[in-house]
Amino acid sequence: MSDILELIKTKDPVEKEFHQAVQEVTETIQPVLDRNPEYRQAAILERIVEPERVILFRVPWVDDQGQVHVNRGFRIEMNSAIGPYKGGLRFHPSVNLSILKFLAFEQVFKNALTTLPMGGGKGGSDFDPKGKSDGEVMRFCQSFMAELFRHIGSNTDVPAGDIGVGAREIGFLFGMYKKLRNEFTGVLTGKSLNWGGSLIRPEATGYGNVYFAAEMLGTRNDTFEGKTCLVSGSGNVAQFTTEKIIELGGKVVTLSDSSGYIYDEEGIDADKLAYVMKLKNIRRGRIKEYVEKYPEAVYTEADPSLDDNPLWNHKADCALPCATENEINGKDAQHLVGNGIFLVSEGANMPSTPDAISVFMDNKILYAPGKASNAGGVAVSGLEMSQNSMRINWPREEVDGRLKTIMKSIHKTCLDASAEYGDPGNYMAGANIAGFVKVVNAMLDQGV
Ligand code: GLU
Repeated sequence: MSDILELIKTKDPVEKEFHQAVQEVTETIQPVLDRNPEYRQAAILERIVEPERVILFRVPWVDDQGQVHVNRGFRIEMNSAIGPYKGGLRFHPSVNLSILKFLAFEQVFKNALTTLPMGGGKGGSDFDPKGKSDGEVMRFCQSFMAELFRHIGSNTDVPAGDIGVGAREIGFLFGMYKKLRNEFTGVLTGKSLNWGGSLIRPEATGYGNVYFAAEMLGTRNDTFEGKTCLVSGSGNVAQFTTEKIIELGGKVVTLSDSSGYIYDEEGIDADKLAYVMKLKNIRRGRIKEYVEKYPEAVYTEADPSLDDNPLWNHKADCALPCATENEINGKDAQHLVGNGIFLVSEGANMPSTPDAISVFMDNKILYAPGKASNAGGVAVSGLEMSQNSMRINWPREEVDGRLKTIMKSIHKTCLDASAEYGDPGNYMAGANIAGFVKVVNAMLDQGV
């Protein structure tokens, strides 16, 4: 085990997701450390794993029956070496310090890869928006912002959405920030179009994921045309990953939520996807309802007693996990390989366990880690910040064009870094190395 991993395990023994993220990065950046012995004197690793600031606060709110509830609010301001802290807010019962530290840590490298000047942060709450009324969600968001507003700002820390935080939540959060600060600025991204949002932001993570995967296919002179794809999740990232795959001539046969998954052998076409978008975004329904509308599909209930996820056990060419962390374990990865999958492009953050990644590496799968392949979301957030500063709105083609250019550049950066440090074609190593080098150089420039 590396010294730094030992150090964080001693300091914070229960933060297993954070340990996992640090382990993945430190294992792959060893060649950089070997080439730069001065990093040790500068305690670069010790500094990069320690958040610059952690904010933890109480969020009391009142439900529709008048009952008061208390949730926990967090913001991890991880690293501001190359720009203001930037990263989403996650509202989900699983949220804790370990999960947010892992996400903030990943965000630092991801944001560095986008070519835009953004540091890394992450925040959220263990509040569960599922099953809550709009009024309850609004009161929760207002209470959350009543504390968070003192720590953020358009040049300080710019949150956005993540799991459980979409356009509705961003609206309530922004409204409260404006009330408290009397200031209309780009303090949050993912805003609605008519009050400062950017075109393509909702699509950006999913589209970017597919643009990155298309670049990987291009290295083998291949395209999405005729490819069968397994996609997990059914939120924003999964929806626009599916939309772009369909547009590029591929077929998506699965989607899921925390209750189960659907398998539609005929493929989820544009009409079926439009139904899913309405179901999830407007009615806030469950993916199970898909089979009532399209009986040719099969629904399988999630079974927590299983040690694999049957979603990953279907014949296909590509897998694009877009749900959540550690959703593909070693056994699932074996199934993917056995079913002929040769490309995995992560729309979610850290969806593959270390065992799964080993299986991908051993089998020479084209494997893109989330911090590279899902960076399109935060990249367009960066473009939203630029548009807000200039007080203009770019047209759709302009933002989409920039997103494509950024994803191509991330792909090239990963390949170049992997080749320079002796592991050509290893996108995980390339992403970690390129992100790390950029942030570390900025930290060294700025002194201790
Ligand atoms: N939550 C997204 C991510 O994981 C987007 C963050 C942002 O736009 O700031 O990158």
